[in-house]
This record gives sequence, structure tokens and C-alpha cells, in this order.
Amino acid sequence: MKSKDQSARIYTAKVITDSERKTADGEDYTYIEAKAYMVRTEKNKDLIAEIDAGIKKETSVGCAVRDISCSICGRNIKTEGCEHKKGNVYGGKICCYLLSEPTDAYEWSFVAVPAQKNAGVIKSFNPSEEREKLAEWAREYTDELKSDIVRSAATVIPGLTGESVGEICDALSLKSLKALRDALRMSAQKNMPVIRQLESSDCDNGNENSEYKI
Ligand SMILES: [Zn+2]
Repeated sequence: MKSKDQSARIYTAKVITDSERKTADGEDYTYIEAKAYMVRTEKNKDLIAEIDAGIKKETSVGCAVRDISCSICGRNIKTEGCEHKKGNVYGGKICCYLLSEPTDAYEWSFVAVPAQKNAGVIKSFNPSEEREKLAEWAREYTDELKSDIVRSAATVIPGLTGESVGEICDALSLKSLKALRDALRMSAQKNMPVIRQLESSDCDNGNENSEYKI
């Protein structure tokens, strides 16, 4: 993942169970609904148009889980493995991999074919109705950029006080703040490289991201 690929920020998510709908396995249909905001810029224009037109629709969640188990035999896929194959039917039951104890969520992205069928965009904002909220999120986003800048500046330019950095930030546009944040972050990371804390499991070698998909 690269920050330049990021177009929106998820600000809330919840799990919803719809007992009127059933899964292929006959259980109540449960899904995650996330809300995201994005800045209306020249760069995002095409993406927004594609979302509105329903061209960008299917999504996938990138996450890490502590355990993956087989729905048929209950064995831990990561540590034990089993002979059952995902999607095959055994004694009238579809084999699924059960993901439990999510430990991290990396990203929510548009994909050509979602790992989870029906995963996709369900509703877009009407900005005129949401203007107040959008302004608030824009403020939060600006504050977040500023604190990122102050943090990275402390590593890259230790001679400059946080207060001075804050004053410089106040004079900058959102676009310049973002450019400064990205540049400082890159320099700060060179000084202290960020190491990913979670290791991926080595099951399902065919697709390097498949162990994270739900
Ligand atoms: Zn099994």
C-alpha cells in the first residue's frame, strides 16, 4: 500500500445483521458498513464520477486476523491445515474459512472481483445535506495533518519547535499541508524505517493478499 493510492478515509464502521437475508450457508446475513469521506479535488474527480456511476462498486477489506479455521472440521488453517477446500460442499455444508479475532485493518479498496460477493458501495453522500459534517471532517483531517507534520518535523528538523511548526502550518493550504506531511514523513521514515508488525500466514500461496480478505 502506498499513501498516494489513498483516496478516502473511513471514519466509522459497524457490523449489521439483517435476519431477513440469509447467507449461502443459511445463516443471518451479517455485514460491515463503513462510512468514508474524501476531499473533492481535481485528482479525485474521476474516482468520484466512477463511484456515482456505479463503475467503481466492488470492494475488499484488507485485514489481519489471529485465527483462520475450517467450518467443516474446525481445524486451525494457519497451524494445522486440513483436507477440506474452500467453496466445496461436504455432507451438504459449504466449506468456509472462519476468520476470528481481527487484529488489524489495513485498507478498504475497490477491486475487480471481491473475495466476498455482494461487498460494495451501497450509498454515496449528498454533499449539500452533509456540508456541516464534511466541514467538521475537513477540520479533523487538517488537524491530523498538522499533528503528523509536527511529529515528523521533530525527527527531521529537531531544531524547530513544535510551536513554530504549528504556526507555519496555519499559513498553509490543505494541499500544501498534505505535500509537507508526505515529504516530512518520507524523510522521517528514512531516519526510522517503519516495520510492519504483523506477519502474514503462508497458507493460500496462490494469492498474496487472500489471507487478509473477509
Ligand atoms: Zn477442514
